[in-house]
Amino acid sequence: MDQTRFVIEASEAESMANDSGLTVIQFLPSLVNSAKNLARPPISNYHVGAIGFGSSGRIFLGVNLEFPGLPLHHSVHAEQFLVTNLSINAEPHLDYLVVSAAPCGHCRQFLQEIRGAPDIKLLITSDGHDKFNPLSHFLSHRFGPDNLLDKEVPLLLEPHHNRLSFLRESNNLSNGICNGNSSKIDGKLKHAALEAANKSHAPYSGSPSGVALMDFEGKIYKGSYMESAAYNPSLGPVQAALVAYVAGGGEEYDKIVAAALVEKDGAVVKQEQTAKLLLQSISPQCEFKAFYCSFGALNNCEKA
Ligand SMILES: [Zn+2]
Repeated sequence: MDQTRFVIEASEAESMANDSGLTVIQFLPSLVNSAKNLARPPISNYHVGAIGFGSSGRIFLGVNLEFPGLPLHHSVHAEQFLVTNLSINAEPHLDYLVVSAAPCGHCRQFLQEIRGAPDIKLLITSDGHDKFNPLSHFLSHRFGPDNLLDKEVPLLLEPHHNRLSFLRESNNLSNGICNGNSSKIDGKLKHAALEAANKSHAPYSGSPSGVALMDFEGKIYKGSYMESAAYNPSLGPVQAALVAYVAGGGEEYDKIVAAALVEKDGAVVKQEQTAKLLLQSISPQCEFKAFYCSFGALNNCEKA
């Protein structure tokens, strides 16, 4: 298996399992170690690998990411990486999950944002057996979206259309924070961030946001902010975009040269300062700009 791939197509998953004389579900645990090798935990050196099987028949990988020099809450856990990877690839549902170590409380909570979460089947390879148990076994008496949202509200992995848009196409991008250099943040990057914000899962605060990162080759990586009913396990838009970066084959973070954030003007939850802090820490030369939008395109969108 190609070590840099974080998605395995259904047909390939099927044939890989067949070659091992297993069903795809039986085959999943054998992928955990290769996922662990892709983890980037320079603080703990504790590698975690997560493997997900979606309703489309595809297999997804997740790994943990840690960022030295920043508080630990900026970290991305392997399960969060996995769910972000599912979301990026428009996977409708997570059916089976295999993790190298027991999911922490935050991750058990974060997974609740997926519809039917209590029925997701989970296997922990360090337990030493091959039995899947429903997530409800690991988190009973849950607090989740049902406690706060109407049933019609889309949950994580379901299509979101947040109706943020740029009414006026006056980019006016040359007055940014790029110290006189010509700005790398163009309309394409800004619109990629808008697209990510429109897919953001933020039903609790009503503050969707999205980030688009650009590497030195001009390749763009998008990440959508994802909220948890319990607030703290929420995953920020920069973290989500970094998942896209790592899953998309991105190497050192300092190869990220530009970043655009889109969020609502006057939002009750704001990402700008945290996003700036995280990006400055992992890629000091990265140009960063925030853009503010209004819901339903009632007002002009303005640059930061
Ligand atoms: Zn966790």
